[in-house]
Amino acid sequence: MRAKGTCLRCGHYRELKARGLDNSCYTKAHNAGELENYPKRERRHVDLEEADQLARAGRNDTEIALHQGFSSSAVRVARHRRRRQT
Ligand SMILES: [Zn+2]
Repeated sequence: MRAKGTCLRCGHYRELKARGLDNSCYTKAHNAGELENYPKRERRHVDLEEADQLARAGRNDTEIALHQGFSSSAVRVARHRRRRQT
């Protein structure tokens, strides 16, 4: 399922294909070689190694989440997942 949002190129609110662009703008930007102007917005994962380092440096979950661009609950969920894997 694709998220709806405001297209970065034309400013219309519609279904977005990728990089914050709707389907027609994505195609136009692609054909014009302008795609690199619109950074990929892939869902990243919480960097737990960095999170651990920051935690050891005395940062709390909220600060770590802000640093990585996540909510603090995302950091907790990532830790939880890791625990189940081992
Ligand atoms: Zn557009």
